[in-house]
Amino acid sequence: KLDQHPAGRHFLQIPGPSPSPDRVLRAMSYPTIDHRGPEFAKLGFKVLSDIKKIFKTEQPVIIYPASGTGAWEAALVNTLSAGDHVIMFETGHFATLWKKLADNLGLKSEFLAMPDGQGWRNGVQPGMIEARLREDTEHKIKAVCVVHNETSTGVTSDILAVRKAIDAAKHPALLMVDTISGLACADYRHDEWGVDVSISGSQKGLMLPPGISFNAVSPKAVAASEHARLPKSYWGWKEIIDVNKTGYWPSTPNTNLLYALAECLDMLLEEGMDKVFARHNRLAEACRRAVRAWGLEIQCADTAVYSPVLTGIVMPEGIDADVVRKIIYERFDLSLGTGLGKVKGKMFRIGHLGDCNDLTLMATLAGCEMGMQLAGIKLAGSGLPAAMNYLCEYPGGLLA
Ligand code: PLP
Repeated sequence: KLDQHPAGRHFLQIPGPSPSPDRVLRAMSYPTIDHRGPEFAKLGFKVLSDIKKIFKTEQPVIIYPASGTGAWEAALVNTLSAGDHVIMFETGHFATLWKKLADNLGLKSEFLAMPDGQGWRNGVQPGMIEARLREDTEHKIKAVCVVHNETSTGVTSDILAVRKAIDAAKHPALLMVDTISGLACADYRHDEWGVDVSISGSQKGLMLPPGISFNAVSPKAVAASEHARLPKSYWGWKEIIDVNKTGYWPSTPNTNLLYALAECLDMLLEEGMDKVFARHNRLAEACRRAVRAWGLEIQCADTAVYSPVLTGIVMPEGIDADVVRKIIYERFDLSLGTGLGKVKGKMFRIGHLGDCNDLTLMATLAGCEMGMQLAGIKLAGSGLPAAMNYLCEYPGGLLA
């Protein structure tokens, strides 16, 4: 273990919070202004308008001073009533936590799951959702809730296919999507995909520190909110949407995070979202090539739904992934994501999202490789040349 403070920057390669670009950190350091004063409304209007371009929606996006969990709760309490039946899909730890939250609120949740734990290695199965909705001839199911990018496993589900499944079953259930770690890393289209509530957070693809989260809503979701009876006050959309029309919030917004949001929205929109997605996909592919060269397994078993945000790396039998992570943290000052829930100790996660470039990824892979060797893992070979060759041969949009 290093016994002095290590020189150089810490490598924060967990799948969120992601490292914030210097531009964003500087923006956040401006003095806090009066959130009821004239200057503030300019900032309010700007972020409320630009965030819509990221969700690809013309509808209101509600910004909460809260972590993603708050926005999960807001989505449910605004649209549903006690005892309402909702179906959720078991893709991993975050889907499981959202289900628990729904149960705590007094909803009747049902988990659709692939057999034999395969759900934690695959995406949402639209066919299973369609079949379940077809059985529900009385339309008791009020919402279908799915996670777009399952951060615990590194799987990005096909949300349009879920929309099509609901439509094919001719079912009126609302579609709610957690894109907390997917937004601004993987393509996302709130309006085009017919999502009723999209939930996201600041600390992943948006590259901000944790502390704000979002509900993008559809007209159908807003209509449902007029009859929903779960208790709500702080989370209530109506008052926020009304006050937002003036550029302000009903209670104190986190002003400095909104400065940071304005800056990151400028950065993302200057780059262009297609390039943002291509950048993430390219780093993810380089990472996966390294994992394969190590002779290790990727947690996501379906190549069609690999996550551009993170890669889950399965450890060989008998190796505790958290011991490997600890060695890497202590020796190389590199933070990696722990295995969560059912895969605790069995895998670790490399985040390649947000403010991460080729050399950040290469350093991360080098840290992983050295740490795994120190942990006594027999690798099939070095992963570094595989990743380097891919990054050299495939410049992506960088040279365009
Ligand atoms: N959903 C997903 C997919 C997440 O990745 C996370 C956090 O990592 C959450 C929900 C919970 O968000 P928060 O920890 O910001 O409350």
